[in-house]
Amino acid sequence: MIQITYQRGKCIGCNYCIELAPDRWRMNKKDGRSLLLGAKNKKGFYTVKVNDTEYEANKASAKVCPMKIIHINKLNK
Ligand code: SF4
Repeated sequence: MIQITYQRGKCIGCNYCIELAPDRWRMNKKDGRSLLLGAKNKKGFYTVKVNDTEYEANKASAKVCPMKIIHINKLNK
């Protein structure tokens, strides 16, 4: 498993994460910020645990995000 963390309040809506990992990200047209699908919000930090198969795509999103607000951690399980 991996954990994705996303600090949504700083998103500028550039769409890069969605292009690179379309299964996990969507644009919210109402506020122009990306949605991390399946995530829970805790004080503005959204987190979700997903399978390792999603690692590469989401790691690429984290790398390219101009705000550096996406973080990926591998979990020991
Ligand atoms: S790449 Fe970063 S700034 Fe751009 S839409 Fe995704 S989360 Fe927002």
